[in-house]
Amino acid sequence: MPRIVQKYGGTSVGDVERIKKVAERIKAAREEGNEVVVVLSARAGLTNELIARAKGLCAEPSERELDQLLAIGEQESVALMAMALHGIKVPAVSYTGAQAGIFTDGVHTKAKIRTVDPKPVVKDLDLGRVVIVAGFQGIDDDGQITTLGRGGSDLTAVALAGALKADVCEIYTDVDGVYTADPRVVKNARKLPEISYDEMLELASSGSKVMQSRSVEFAKKFGVVFEVRSSFNHNPGTIVKEEVAYMEQVVVRGIAADKDQAKVIVSNIPDKPGSAASVFRGLADANVIVDMIVQTAGRHGVANLTFTVPETDTARAVKALEPVLAGIGGGQVTMHQHIAKISVVGVGMKTHSGVAATLFQALAGAGINIDLISTSEIKISVVVDLDRADDAVRVAHAAFGLDKL
Ligand code: ADP
Ligand code: ASP
Ligand code: MG
Repeated sequence: MPRIVQKYGGTSVGDVERIKKVAERIKAAREEGNEVVVVLSARAGLTNELIARAKGLCAEPSERELDQLLAIGEQESVALMAMALHGIKVPAVSYTGAQAGIFTDGVHTKAKIRTVDPKPVVKDLDLGRVVIVAGFQGIDDDGQITTLGRGGSDLTAVALAGALKADVCEIYTDVDGVYTADPRVVKNARKLPEISYDEMLELASSGSKVMQSRSVEFAKKFGVVFEVRSSFNHNPGTIVKEEVAYMEQVVVRGIAADKDQAKVIVSNIPDKPGSAASVFRGLADANVIVDMIVQTAGRHGVANLTFTVPETDTARAVKALEPVLAGIGGGQVTMHQHIAKISVVGVGMKTHSGVAATLFQALAGAGINIDLISTSEIKISVVVDLDRADDAVRVAHAAFGLDKL
């Protein structure tokens, strides 16, 4: 019997009516002769609401307690979905991440999956049940509840699909695939029939929240092919898989914007070997993820380091840098949160020149100032003012002719 993993995101389980609609889709998949495993997110907005409540009680909530709290969002969804299925005579059972055998490390709020034990799920599939698993959560070696980072239900789905050797993995969301840019920002963005893991990974890690980046990393590592589709219609979606030859013909595949970044400037640090190492060691030990590092040439014995971090890590970054700067003998930290990172992604960049020039020219034409620049083999990113982020995406989309391909 074909085995299928379906993941439904927050808007797809947003209210009772949506839950009923999704239950019908699950029933149909089962009646077509599949073994069905379903991964669910918390209903849209609930995770943010819980975080806001926590912060209303304590400025820096304990990460262990946050995980305890956030895990209830997905638990609500799975229990309600099991009941909805029972209501239409489909045998189903709901599982927490722990019950489904999702074992993680102990890094609260961004735990990594260590192993997935598929036995409990397989046992229920053998009994003819639909198994509904709470996304975004797992359990560590000490029996503590952990969560997998924002958007982490995607990762639960891909990891379960891998462990269960599923024939199909479908990610159902509120758009019918991966587009050349966020279709809510660029009206003439086009749906991509397929995209390589590497491009999807760069788009996701650059802010296209349609897929959590770690889930794409996992899929690439374990060769899990998946399809991004809409739970609101039956249109074909976007297949994400290993690169195939013809994919290279396109220079730029898509544009992403990340509005949840902050810029950190560490100024006047001693210009000597070891300063940068101490700064980034301190940040790494505090689990701060750093991107786009720029060092300006040292003058008068001091240098400046500029880099970007996720906005949610800024308080932790500042705290981590205090003892570091005292240790290396000086320096000041300033934060700038009103920024966005715009990235242009495509495997074709490996063999084509002129992408940077086209991007910079398009931004200049719209009067958008570039603050920082970084490049990788298949991506160019720039930091711009947050207020101009959407304009930047639109002019870049047009400059690379992405609406026309
Ligand atoms: P879910 O709750 O189903 O996980 P998300 O909100 O996390 O859904 O992701 C879907 C959203 O991602 C879409 O509503 C869309 O606005 C946004 N998005 C950003 N970039 C893209 C893109 N390139 N293609 C499709 N959607 C995108
Ligand atoms: N509920 C979590 C979040 O909002 C996980 C997810 O939706 O994938 O980030
Ligand atoms: Mg998501």
